[in-house]
Amino acid sequence: MIYFDHHATTPPSGAVIDAVTAVMRGAWANASSQHAPGQAAKRVLSDARATVARVLGCKPAEVVFTSGATEANHLAVRGLLAAAPAERRRVVFSAVEHSGHLKLARELGDAGVPVDFMPVRADGTLDLTVAAQLIGPDVALVSLMAANNETGALMPVTEVAALAAGAGARLHVDATQWIGKRPFRFTDFGADAVSFSAHKFQGPKGVGALLLRQGVAIRPTVPGSQERNRRGGTENLPAIAGLAAALAALGSEVELDAEAVRQSALRERLEGALMAELPEVRIWCAGVPRLPGVSFLRVGRWEADVLLQRLERLGFAASSGAACSSSGTAPSHVLTAMGVPDDEALCAIRLSLGRSTTDAEVDALIAALPTLRTLLPTADAVAA
Ligand code: PMP
Repeated sequence: MIYFDHHATTPPSGAVIDAVTAVMRGAWANASSQHAPGQAAKRVLSDARATVARVLGCKPAEVVFTSGATEANHLAVRGLLAAAPAERRRVVFSAVEHSGHLKLARELGDAGVPVDFMPVRADGTLDLTVAAQLIGPDVALVSLMAANNETGALMPVTEVAALAAGAGARLHVDATQWIGKRPFRFTDFGADAVSFSAHKFQGPKGVGALLLRQGVAIRPTVPGSQERNRRGGTENLPAIAGLAAALAALGSEVELDAEAVRQSALRERLEGALMAELPEVRIWCAGVPRLPGVSFLRVGRWEADVLLQRLERLGFAASSGAACSSSGTAPSHVLTAMGVPDDEALCAIRLSLGRSTTDAEVDALIAALPTLRTLLPTADAVAA
């Protein structure tokens, strides 16, 4: 099976598997224990924290390890809201945040917190005019993703940071799809808090972090004495070491740029072939700045499930959007926010490339397109 679902998760690298295994075997003690094995584990934890700080341009004390981006997003939003002054109660999200994050938004709304959503335009970019109207002096926190997991569209983080700063609000950025794909330094975004998950860049699943700017008050969602009282629970040391190994392997800004150029060239070749070989291909966000390795598209009016089954039969794994919501048949909320009608949105599939994607893998998919075309029901059969 050739894997085209790197936005859902990425295969762990050998260096990551080695780092996880080494800690499971050699540093399994509790990092809070005072004895020698505990102190050895504590050193592993502080080395990992130092690596994160070095690679992502923050201070070690600004790193709060969590079980992934979902938890980091919760900590940022609930924690910053709880610590905000009483006159600031409103929270502003973008309408295209990750589906799990929007569930949190709805939960806050149900609990009586005023919640607003910054809309996107038909091309998938954030509407900054409306954003500026929504970010006022009663806003505690703005929560915006750096890049969309489905379309790959990049969000205007620094512009929204300026709006948030102007209104005296905190800014949280979900950089889960950005970190590992684009150069990142914590201070670049102008955010108070940034979340990410290691498995999006060859690291283990179930581990991530919230970078929290020094001096910013937060109330923990999982209280406990670990992570400087900001996140309780015995640290998942093997996974944290794997996260650090994955970050350390990303390479310099120049190397990240070179990899982005490589992946976008592969993506352009794939999109060109899709349009040449299949009827009525529509690619969303192709005309706006987007992440290098992703293509979110439909082929005519063939439902995503049909297309994905045929692709799988031919040996290719792709998805209909966010893995977390792809088991249901609901249309993508991202496309709905862009004004795409439900019947079209239900046809959306996502092909996402990654570091391990080779030219030969893309060639194999391109070579399979004529066969795929013969496997698809005809437009008449679909209409009947
Ligand atoms: N935010 C974004 C933008 C994502 O793409 C994902 C993962 N699909 C998450 C948050 C959640 O990450 P995790 O499941 O690792 O907690």
